[in-house]
Amino acid sequence: MTSTPAAHDCLFCRIVAGEVPATVVAETADAVAFRDLDPRAPTHVLVVPRDHHADVADLAAADPDLLAALVLLGRAVAEQECGGHFRLVFNTGAEAGQSVFHVHGHVVGGTRLGWSPA
Ligand code: IMP
Repeated sequence: MTSTPAAHDCLFCRIVAGEVPATVVAETADAVAFRDLDPRAPTHVLVVPRDHHADVADLAAADPDLLAALVLLGRAVAEQECGGHFRLVFNTGAEAGQSVFHVHGHVVGGTRLGWSPA
């Protein structure tokens, strides 16, 4: 997939721009962390770059430092909320469960997590 410029039809671009409400829990110059609308764990926060990239592989190819910044923002959220223990999930591609094509890491924690990707 190819990185595309921010578009007004991208939900997470609109959240980053403040055009769609979200519960923001942390932010940096490069990235924003906000609560998932449909949480699957006591902590379920999405970390997204302000710049639009379709998925984590595109982001890694285009801007690896920004990917590292997302991981560190995820850690900061987990330190605030769940003792620094967290799972960071990047669903990549529709078959893998990606439904929003602006890269986002799911920061999940606050409970003992099982291990069943299916
Ligand atoms: P994906 O399925 O990995 O692409 O994850 C998309 C996530 O975005 C899902 O967990 C949704 O619950 C979440 N989501 C969708 N719309 C919103 C919103 O407006 N605010 C916060 N989270 C959202």
